[in-house]
Amino acid sequence: MRCPYCRHADSRVVDSREADDGQLIRRRRSCPECGKRFTTVEEAVLAVVKRSGVTEPFSRTKIIGGVRKACQGRPVDEDSIALLAQKVEETVRAKGAAEIPSHDVGLAILGPLRDLDEVAYLRFASVYRSFDSLADFEQEIETLRAAARARQGVAEAGAAGTAGRTN
Ligand SMILES: [Zn+2]
Repeated sequence: MRCPYCRHADSRVVDSREADDGQLIRRRRSCPECGKRFTTVEEAVLAVVKRSGVTEPFSRTKIIGGVRKACQGRPVDEDSIALLAQKVEETVRAKGAAEIPSHDVGLAILGPLRDLDEVAYLRFASVYRSFDSLADFEQEIETLRAAARARQGVAEAGAAGTAGRTN
């Protein structure tokens, strides 16, 4: 590893430590030329397998790009998008596989995106699930409405329960 201070071509590892429950290894390195120390992080590459069979390294930046596109003109800030991408990465890494189908990455995006913004979710889902008719949209919107009604129902039941106890 090249020294980031003096660009010397070599460095010496002085300490190695596991971090993030063994997912990462941090190494302290020392430059024999200028004597400065720096840290490197080693992490297994998570490969995403596309439908064509081609693999590419998992990229959080790519997730952010896709989600940002779906959120265009929506009241969603960059921090929320970054947080969503982090969640997606945690979800796919938690599977513990070295390779993951791109389909699963899309699935991992849909859940948190629905919680973030339903319109952005619909846009993303329409591309991801290749909606090709209005009926596909109608069905998805009906699912969203049913979920909203279920949440509403739970909230009302909770409120009624509280009122019942206090009266
Ligand atoms: Zn150096």
